[in-house]
Amino acid sequence: MNTTTTPNAFEGSDKARDFIARLDEFIQQELHPMAQEHGIDHDHSPSKELLQQVWKRSQAKGFYGMTLPEPMGGAGFSVHDHALVKEFIYASGTPFAPHILGELTGPPRLGALVRQSTPAQMQRFILPVARAEKAVCFAITEPDAGSDAGALQTSAVQQGDNFVLNGTKKFISGSPFCDFAVIIASTSEDPAVRETTAFFVERNRPGFSIEGGYKTMAGQSHTANIVLKDCVIPASNQIGERGKGLGLALGRITVNRLLHCPAMLGLAQLALQDSLDYARQRQQFGKPIGAFQAIQHMLADMATELAAARALMLSVARSLDLGIDARAQASMAKLYCSETAFRIADRAVQIHGGEGIVQGRRVEFLFRMLRMYRILTGTSEIQRNTIAKELLQATGR
Ligand SMILES: Cc1cc2nc3c(=O)[nH]c(=O)nc-3n(C[C@H](O)[C@H](O)[C@H](O)COP(=O)(O)OP(=O)(O)OC[C@H]3O[C@@H](n4cnc5c(N)ncnc54)[C@H](O)[C@@H]3O)c2cc1C
Repeated sequence: MNTTTTPNAFEGSDKARDFIARLDEFIQQELHPMAQEHGIDHDHSPSKELLQQVWKRSQAKGFYGMTLPEPMGGAGFSVHDHALVKEFIYASGTPFAPHILGELTGPPRLGALVRQSTPAQMQRFILPVARAEKAVCFAITEPDAGSDAGALQTSAVQQGDNFVLNGTKKFISGSPFCDFAVIIASTSEDPAVRETTAFFVERNRPGFSIEGGYKTMAGQSHTANIVLKDCVIPASNQIGERGKGLGLALGRITVNRLLHCPAMLGLAQLALQDSLDYARQRQQFGKPIGAFQAIQHMLADMATELAAARALMLSVARSLDLGIDARAQASMAKLYCSETAFRIADRAVQIHGGEGIVQGRRVEFLFRMLRMYRILTGTSEIQRNTIAKELLQATGR
């Protein structure tokens, strides 16, 4: 593993170690040269055609479907192994990191949908994503429904054998290159009653449009809005039961929250590695800046906090593998890893001095990227709410 802070012994299963060794080869021999040839870095997005190549190659090598159920080609990894695989991918520094397992638009997005889909939906939506032929995005957030996801307003009104959808979905990852979206819409006729249902909505349906026009601070343009104007879909596109939309979307929220941590910590490892390299190489006052105690202490704090965050992540992963209800612990991990990773990136910029704030330096990108994780998939405040709620309920029992 590309870090100076973790012991050399691999903490996962033999299967995960072999998987990571093959991933390493794929990244070094195919993805790094591909990124170089096409001028792709963390700030320059690949085209959809190039991404399709990455998805297809990853699928052919058996990586893309890792998170699928085993009968569909999944690796059957524990949450612990899954976290180690993801950490490795992000710590490799490839700008294709979110595309190897298909986190933005591939199999990890399918989650509970695999179990909820009808045989026809399996053929039209699920299997094409598993085969890396189609891309999916997942749309809950709206202009007036962010942390309070249940307040969503996008409506799905049944008319005979169809539903008519109207509304706007905001900040949808992967929507610029999706082939269809999973839309969580309100099927309630009474605005005071919250009833949400999930639907597959194909991008080529009249009334479906993707509106960009903004770029997040992470650089690459992965995020846009989906606007639905009198978009008609067959009732057979409904996923699961009516009224179970948000439940379906948030069903694996505990595991999903935990599985954001390895991405942040993989990137934080890069920030630490770059800082160590710079501290050894940059000379001031006749010596490497790494000779100054102020720099040494920053490096020591970065490594210590990274080790603590990593230990928390792996311990929560083990609890989840044991079937323990680790809702509060997963929120603690998401909160602590995101806040820690950002502090590490901030110190990395400081160690790089003026170079650290120049666009094109990796630490400058890492600082922006790691800032985002304090907001994505439940802000730090929402994680604290979840932790406090669980604590107060537990002491009242
Ligand atoms: C890059 C990116 C990608 C995203 N991808 C997706 C996606 O693929 N699909 C999708 O559906 N959504 C996606 N989102 C949306 C994301 O989940 C929301 O941005 C997030 O949940 C926060 O909602 P909000 O931005 O509306 O903030 P708000 O909810 O408006 O929050 C504003 C502030 O108020 C605080 N706050 C809100 N409620 C409370 C409370 N009860 N207690 C204390 N503080 C509170 C928040 O913590 C925050 O500090 C994405 C967002 C970004 C930026």
